[in-house]
Amino acid sequence: MELNNKSLFKEKCFVNGQWEDGQNNNRIEVNNPATMEIIGKVPNFTADETKSVIEYADNAFQSWKNTTAKERSIILKKWSDLIVDNVDDLAKIMTVEQGKPLAEAKGEILMGASYIEFYAEEAKRVYGDIIPDPRPGKRIVIIKQPVGVVGAITPWNFPNSMITRKCAAALAVGCTTVVKPASQTPFSALAVAELAKLAGFPDGVFNIITGSAKEIGMELTKNPKIKKISFTGSTEVGKILMEQSASTVKKMSMELGGHAPFIVFEDADIDEAVEGALQSKFRNSGQTCICTNRLFVHENVYDVFLEKFTNGVKKIKVGNGLDEGIVSGPLIDKSSLEKVIDHVQDAVNIGAKIAVGGDVHPLGGNFYQPTVLSNVSTKAKITFEETFGPVAPVYKFSNDEEVIKMANDTPYGLASYFYSRDIGKIWRVAEALEYGIVSINNGLPTIPEVPFGGVKESGMGREGSRYGLDDYLIIKYISMGGI
Ligand code: ADP
Repeated sequence: MELNNKSLFKEKCFVNGQWEDGQNNNRIEVNNPATMEIIGKVPNFTADETKSVIEYADNAFQSWKNTTAKERSIILKKWSDLIVDNVDDLAKIMTVEQGKPLAEAKGEILMGASYIEFYAEEAKRVYGDIIPDPRPGKRIVIIKQPVGVVGAITPWNFPNSMITRKCAAALAVGCTTVVKPASQTPFSALAVAELAKLAGFPDGVFNIITGSAKEIGMELTKNPKIKKISFTGSTEVGKILMEQSASTVKKMSMELGGHAPFIVFEDADIDEAVEGALQSKFRNSGQTCICTNRLFVHENVYDVFLEKFTNGVKKIKVGNGLDEGIVSGPLIDKSSLEKVIDHVQDAVNIGAKIAVGGDVHPLGGNFYQPTVLSNVSTKAKITFEETFGPVAPVYKFSNDEEVIKMANDTPYGLASYFYSRDIGKIWRVAEALEYGIVSINNGLPTIPEVPFGGVKESGMGREGSRYGLDDYLIIKYISMGGI
């Protein structure tokens, strides 16, 4: 990998301001999902080593929590600037380990930096409250304080921005962090740590460790010095972490799976709906938790939408994300590919028609063809399970009540999308959808200024916006008498 700044590629963990190999000789190999080549190895930290990292983070917390918001803001802003300055190298590292096209990787890095910039500014606006006391001679004061050491466990689909979105908010309010990135994409995380060091975070404030998810996850959840777990990943693992954290009653943010509906009403602008569906379905090869998973199209516009959408999908250029003009990269690994193959076969076996794609890509490896399925049965697996791949099942509906019921018929509740120009319908549907995010006439709802998060089994807590700070703060009520 040709990098301008070679110091960004680190094969060590970042602990208490130092780069560490760990004791374990059995290191984790990381591969390029487009070529299957091994690109490097990272340490395999043990539970005991994780425990010492938590000690460092706890020591650092004792002084970091007493820094001023302005001091923290200056370091955060510098970190954000350094990420922007190194965007080309960071994007290259990301594409090589994650597979997403270079332009998309750059977009993620800049978004990752903008979360930090946002929280550098928001750090200064953590206000308390004074509540009028009904009792004479007494006063009620509310202050907000950092919760403590945060354990952050992050996924491979957004190897940069899921770390910055969590950590910027945590660090802004005075928490310290121990991050465990996904083993598929540790190099993007470690590169960001190198820049955190340059930005001037004191030792122990920001730490990144790699290793067995189970072993590190167990220590992070059971250790009483960790006061908060912030997780982005599958609902299945989120439930395990909640159970494990119960014994120490930790504060939790859970950003879990989704099964986003995308509804095209009869009065929608069809071209805009097609554009939005292409963005929200095929970004990151369908591997985002807010990716459209089920398209519901009104019967009167079904044929025209399907034709235009299918034509759009035919134009998606698949390949190695480092190559010019590529819009869709490989899936992250073989098991992800197998799930996509299984979902398509199952749908086709019970009547779905393939409008385009429907098979592994001639490139081989982890590549799958961008696919549109029509006539999909509501009994197909794809109707109920998150596919996490480039497959769009399209269903027909005839009235609002029916489609809202179908859209809500899932344990998930992260993002939902719909297209309409009817103001009355827009309000009714937005209020009826059981989702944390309702995106109307817009295929890309994620930016730092908004509270991102789900309901039902998609999780709890919010990331981004001023609400995102609450997840790392405790509310303290100070009762004052004798006045
Ligand atoms: P995905 O299926 O998208 O890979 P996962 O929920 O399995 O999602 O992974 C998200 C993150 O959770 C990754 O960092 C992964 O290493 C971590 N993880 C997986 N299993 C566990 C576990 N038992 N305890 C803690 N972390 C885990």
